[in-house]
Amino acid sequence: MIDETIKQNLDDIYSRIKIAAEKSGRKAQDIKLIAVTKTVEVGRIKNVCEYGIHDFGENRVQELLEKYDKFDESIQWHLIGHLQKNKVKYIIDKVHMIHSVDSFELAKEIDNRAGKAGKRMNILLQVNVSGEETKFGIKPDEVNEYVGFISQLKNISLRGMMTIAPFAGNPQEIRPIFKKLYDIYIDIKNKRIDNVNMDYLSMGMSNDFEVAIEEGSNIVRIGTGIFGKRNYPQK
Ligand SMILES: *Cc1c(COP(=O)(O)O)cnc(C)c1O
Repeated sequence: MIDETIKQNLDDIYSRIKIAAEKSGRKAQDIKLIAVTKTVEVGRIKNVCEYGIHDFGENRVQELLEKYDKFDESIQWHLIGHLQKNKVKYIIDKVHMIHSVDSFELAKEIDNRAGKAGKRMNILLQVNVSGEETKFGIKPDEVNEYVGFISQLKNISLRGMMTIAPFAGNPQEIRPIFKKLYDIYIDIKNKRIDNVNMDYLSMGMSNDFEVAIEEGSNIVRIGTGIFGKRNYPQK
């Protein structure tokens, strides 16, 4: 039996996604919802599978590995948190996409490990649009250089960009951040660079996903909004 609260939360989120998508001339189906499962126990996560969601986001390698075996291959795992180079080898054959590429060294290591594993890894470039010092991500004015570099790596498929906006009491305040990354994303898309496919713009979390979608996001990463407040603080 599916947990009633989780079901209601998801119904609510999907209806809000639909409204926000329509405001930006799209459909609900154009937006991918990633259930952020960090700190959530396996039993509770099973509810979202039952609901029909098969994209999970984890921000720590260790936790992803612990949960990985508890689910079947229908799940697409997304690494959404900061990734240390020396941990790439543990997840390279397990994750569908890495959202948090933020250095040349990390990109090179992913390329190297993906080559050894005989696969091409989907990645997003994480951009720190706000310039907040506590956030990972490359600077907006570094994007072109990174795209040029990554487009040369054979075992990486650059699929788009990701950002984490600063927390705002009123999400309207951070609308310009989403708008700015959308403009950068479209600019790169229009350049039609070989080996670069700007398919995804991963922006929006529980607190700000509607504004992010209105500004062009097509992947939202939602944890609290589905599962409720996390029980313990997340490093
Ligand atoms: C935790 C986390 C989320 C989800 O945050 P909520 O506010 O719980 O929806 C999204 N993206 C990243 C990178 C995260 O670490």
